[in-house]
Amino acid sequence: MNHALKLLCLLTLGLSLTACGTDNASTGNTTSSAPLQKIVLKLAHGWPKGYPLFGESVEDYARLVGEMSDGRIEIRVDSTNKHKSAFGIFDFVKSGQYDIGQSASYYYGGKDPDTLFFSSMPFSMTAIEQYAWFYHGGGLELANEVYAKHNIEVMLGGNTGMQMGGWFRNEINSVDDLKGLKMRIPGFAGKVVAGVGVVPTNIPTGELYQALERGTLDALEWVSPGLDLRMGFHKIAPYYYTGWHEPGTELLYFFNTDSMAKLPGWAQSILRNAARLTAYNMTTAVFAANADNWDTIATQYPNVQVKKFPPEVLQALKKSNDDLIAAELARSPMARKIIESRQEYLRRARAWTEIGEQAYLETMRN
Ligand code: CA
Repeated sequence: MNHALKLLCLLTLGLSLTACGTDNASTGNTTSSAPLQKIVLKLAHGWPKGYPLFGESVEDYARLVGEMSDGRIEIRVDSTNKHKSAFGIFDFVKSGQYDIGQSASYYYGGKDPDTLFFSSMPFSMTAIEQYAWFYHGGGLELANEVYAKHNIEVMLGGNTGMQMGGWFRNEINSVDDLKGLKMRIPGFAGKVVAGVGVVPTNIPTGELYQALERGTLDALEWVSPGLDLRMGFHKIAPYYYTGWHEPGTELLYFFNTDSMAKLPGWAQSILRNAARLTAYNMTTAVFAANADNWDTIATQYPNVQVKKFPPEVLQALKKSNDDLIAAELARSPMARKIIESRQEYLRRARAWTEIGEQAYLETMRN
């Protein structure tokens, strides 16, 4: 690279990686005094600017990458305020419009139904069980096998832990009470509730309260107290049900494969490992927010009615889930491979959870 172009790259942060190149090898200059060029990457996430926990963790990621690279990598973060497309992250990264994205995999079942399995699945693994599957049970490799078809590499991005079953205007006492109910509930769980008569939909974060207020929605699930309370849903729909459908929802970082391939190994390593660390940080931050806000609900929101779905409703949901899983097993070899991997891992992980953590929690009650 000639000196004029190198200087231009240093001064003009927005230049593409191709124009700037990624190392100094071509100059033959290996002395430490050689100027290090800056790598500038564009990242889009699917939340409003500054959105607590989900959006904040992306800002943390960008800051962490900057620190770990000693300022040599700059990530420019765009929220939905800028790009206006809460569910466009998959396409942004696939096309290369953005180098990196952060979103939930199950928003993209319409693009590729095999992406539905990499957030959370109803009646499936908890956060820690699913982390073990991703990192030690082949889950991350399977996710990358699916996403490679779309020119995307993925890394885990943070987990919500157990999600609540949602906010309802009225109490749910039977399966009949669910029929015709307009509910925001994305992913595989949306298909499951459709099987018992609910009309599921997905709506961007920033529009949820208004949709509930205007009656576009009768009910919604969002996350859990840490994120739900500030949204104000309890003012309209005071029945807050315990969870079944998202026992540990993971967000993902998406990396455009071509953008990654242009980077030197150290930069790729920082991008992947900073995501991994950010995932851990977000997971513990969401747990902390849940504990804080659950305490607030219990002590300051007497109108919130915390409920469990009746056994009849849960049985109907399990039946619908089983029917859908059976159909997915037959749909494609890839779907079968992922589902069987999840099921086998759940069987082993849950046996340990039951004799480990669950037995301990039962002991504490006695
Ligand atoms: Ca949710």
